[in-house]
Amino acid sequence: MPHLETLAVHAGRVPDPHTGAVTPSLVTTTTFQRHADGSFPEGFTYTRADNPNRRALESALAALEGGAGALAFSSGQAATAALLQSLRAGDHVLLGEDLYHGTRYLLTDVLARWGLEADFVDLREHDLVVRAVRDNTRLLWAETPSNPQLRIADLAGLARIARSRGLLFAVDNTWATPLLQRPLELGADVVMHSTTKYFGGHSDVLGGALIVREAGPLAESLRSIQKLSGAVPSPFDCWMLQRSLPTLPVRLRQQVASATALAEYLSAQPAVECVHYPGLASHPGHEIARAQMRGPGAMLSFEVRGGAEAAMQVAARMQLITRATSLGGIESTIEHRASIEGPGSITPPGLLRLSVGLEHADDLIADLAQALAAESA
Ligand SMILES: *Cc1c(COP(=O)(O)O)cnc(C)c1O
Repeated sequence: MPHLETLAVHAGRVPDPHTGAVTPSLVTTTTFQRHADGSFPEGFTYTRADNPNRRALESALAALEGGAGALAFSSGQAATAALLQSLRAGDHVLLGEDLYHGTRYLLTDVLARWGLEADFVDLREHDLVVRAVRDNTRLLWAETPSNPQLRIADLAGLARIARSRGLLFAVDNTWATPLLQRPLELGADVVMHSTTKYFGGHSDVLGGALIVREAGPLAESLRSIQKLSGAVPSPFDCWMLQRSLPTLPVRLRQQVASATALAEYLSAQPAVECVHYPGLASHPGHEIARAQMRGPGAMLSFEVRGGAEAAMQVAARMQLITRATSLGGIESTIEHRASIEGPGSITPPGLLRLSVGLEHADDLIADLAQALAAESA
C-alpha cells in the first residue's frame, strides 16, 4: 500500500489511453453515445448518473480515506443530506452538541418536517451517549475535532457503542482529513467531507463526499440517492478538486506546524482567556487526539477576554488574516462564530475561530499581536 502522499498524487489518475495526456481532461458532456446494440460499454450514460471526472475524483477519495467507495456531491451539506435521506421517517439521529451549525439546522429545520428526530449530546461523555440511544435511533454522527470548540470525541469508543446498539456510525472528517485521522479504521461505517475545505484547499470550489467502509446496501442506497436527488458536482468542480489533491499533504503539514505555533503564542497572551487546540497539552482531549490523530490539525479557536464585543474588535483589527467564514484555504481566515451560527448556537460569545493558511507563521503571529495589543492595554 503506497503512502498517502503518493496516493494523493496518483489515485484516480491514469494517462488518457486515447491521447496520452498525463493530466486529466475535463469532460463537460452531459450525455454519452450508445453503441449500435444499445449498450454503453464505457459505463457512462448521462452526467448526473456518472461522469469521468467524478469517477476519477471518487476513486481518489476512496483510496485516500481507505474506503470501498466514495460518492461526490455538490457541497458538504448535500453529502450530509444524502446520508440522512438514506434513513426513514421516524428514525432518530444522535449527534454531538458542538458541531457544524449547518448539520444541526439541516436536521432541526428541514428533515424534522420529514419525520427525522435528532438529539445533540456531549460525545465526550459516553454514558450520556448510551443513555440518549432510543429504540428508533439509527445513526450516530460524530464530528471531531468539533466546530468550533475543537472538542475531541473518542472514535473507537463511540464505534463500540454504535456497534453494540446496531447503529450506523458516521464521522464528519472535514477538519482532520484522512491525512490526520482514519475513522474507517477506527470503526466508522461512513466518512463525510466538506471537500470545500482542505481537499479543495484554495477557497474556490464547493464540494462534499461520503466514503463508505464497505460495498453493500448502504453504499447502494447512497448511490441511488446521489443520482436521483441530483446534488452532484459539475465535471469542472471534480476536475478542480482532483487538481488540489496532490498538494493536500504538503499544505496540511505546513498549516499544522503554523497552527501549533499560533496556539502556543495565543496561550501566553493576557487578552486571551483560553485557546482550543488539541495540540496543546492543556487541551482536555489532548491524549485522545494524540492516540487517534496523526497531528492536531490546522484549525483552532480562542476566547477573547471581554466577550463578544472584545472579540469582534480583535477581528476588526486584523490586517493580514482575512475576516471570512469557511476554512482550509491557503489564506488564513478568522471568524466570530456565534454571530454566524444563529439562535441554536452554544458557542461562547468571545470565541474567534482561526483557519491557519500558508502565510509565514511569524507574520500571522505579528498580525494577532497587533490586534490583541489594544485589548491588553
Ligand atoms: C463546511 C463544513 C460543512 C459543510 O460543508 P459545505 O461544503 O459548506 O456544504 C460540514 N461540516 C464541517 C465540519 C464543515 O466545516
